[in-house]
Amino acid sequence: MFSGAIEREPRGLTSGETVDLRDADGAFLARGAYSPSSQIRVRVWSFDEREAVDEEFFAARIERALEARRVLVRPDETTACRLINAESDGLPGLVVDRYGDVVVCQFLSAGPERWRGVIVDALSRLVGGVSTIYERSDVEVRVKEGLASRVGVLAGVEPPEFVEIVEHGLRFAVDVRAGHKTGFYLDQRASRRAAAGYAEGREVLNAFSYTGAFAAAVLAAGAVKVTNVDTSASALALGARNLALNGLAADRAENMEADVFTLLRRFRDSRRAFDMIVLDPPKFAGSRAQMDKAARGYKDINLLAFKLLRPGGMLLTFSCSGLMTPELFQKIVADAALDAGREAQIVERLGQPADHPTSLPFPEGAYLKGLVCRVR
Ligand code: SAH
Repeated sequence: MFSGAIEREPRGLTSGETVDLRDADGAFLARGAYSPSSQIRVRVWSFDEREAVDEEFFAARIERALEARRVLVRPDETTACRLINAESDGLPGLVVDRYGDVVVCQFLSAGPERWRGVIVDALSRLVGGVSTIYERSDVEVRVKEGLASRVGVLAGVEPPEFVEIVEHGLRFAVDVRAGHKTGFYLDQRASRRAAAGYAEGREVLNAFSYTGAFAAAVLAAGAVKVTNVDTSASALALGARNLALNGLAADRAENMEADVFTLLRRFRDSRRAFDMIVLDPPKFAGSRAQMDKAARGYKDINLLAFKLLRPGGMLLTFSCSGLMTPELFQKIVADAALDAGREAQIVERLGQPADHPTSLPFPEGAYLKGLVCRVR
C-alpha cells in the first residue's frame, strides 16, 4: 500500500510493526508490515483477518516455500536454488538462497527486518543439512526503508571463501560474502541450459560474463571457443577458476576486461564475427526516469551484436529490468535487428526458473526476460 493511498496513520508506530489496513468504513483490507520511511508504507503479510502474524505464521510460510522447491527443483539439476522469493512466496522483502549447505538471506524491508530472529530460527529448524546461515543485507533498497546495510553469519560456522555448487553437472565456486546478489545468478539457470543446447561447434561471445557461468555451460556443451567480456577483473579471474574446476581447457576461453559498449564497436570495426552471442547485462533501468536511457542501451548492444553474428548465428539477449516489459524488450530487439540490416526470428523465449516463481497477484515479480534469436 503506497503512502498516498493512506488517509490516516496512528501515531507511535515503529518500523516493521504489524498493522491492519482498513477502508473508510473500517472494514478489514489486509495485515502488513509498517515502514515509516518507505513510499510503500505497508507491505502485506496476509489478506485474511483471522491469520495472526507470529512465529507460527513465518514457520508456515517458510515451510510452504520449501515444500514447493522439493517438488519443483530436482536435486540432480542443481545444489543451489532460491528457497524464498519474497512477495511471490508470501514473504515480502525476504530473499533466501541455498548454496549447498550454506543458506544466504536478504532482509530487504522493515517487515522481515523486524522478524529477523524468528525467521532465522525457523530456517535453522526447517531447512535440512545446513552448516551456515549468512546475511547479505547489503542492498540499496534498504536505504529507502531507513535500514543500514549488514553482512555476516546469522547461525552456524563462517562460510568457506568459496562455496562449491553443482548446476547441470558443472561445478561453480560461489563467493557468498561479496558476490553479486547472494553470490550467483541463480535466476539464469534455465537460460544457461538453453545456451548449452545451441552451443555445439560455435564460437561464442559472452558479454557481461561475470563469473563465467554461461561460458562453462557453452564450453561443456561443445562450443569451440568463448570470449568473455566484463569490466570486473576479479569476476573474470573467478570465471577462469570455474573453467578449471570443470576441467575445461583455458585455451578455449579468451577473457577481456573491457566495456561491452566500446568493445562491440571495436569488434564491428575490425570485422570480428561470432556464431553465438550472449548479452546478459546488469539492470539498466532501476526507475521510470531511467527507462529512456535503458531502452537506448539495450538497442545499442543488441544492434551491435546482430552485426557481429555470422549467418545462422544465435543471439541470446536478456533484460533483468522489471520495468522493461517483455513487449517493449522484444520491440527494441526487433528495431535493433532492423537497423543492423539483419533478418532474424525468435526461436525461444527464456525467463526465471521454477524456484523464482511469480505470484499471480504480483506480476512485478516477473523481471527476467530473454529472447533467443536466429539470424539468417
Ligand atoms: N551472465 C552472468 C551475470 C551477468 S551480471 C551470469 O550468468 O553469471 C552483469 C555483469 O556485467 C557484471 O559482472 C558486471 O561487472 C558487468 N558489467 C556491467 N557493466 C558493464 C559494461 N559496461 N561492460 C562490461 N561489463 C559490464
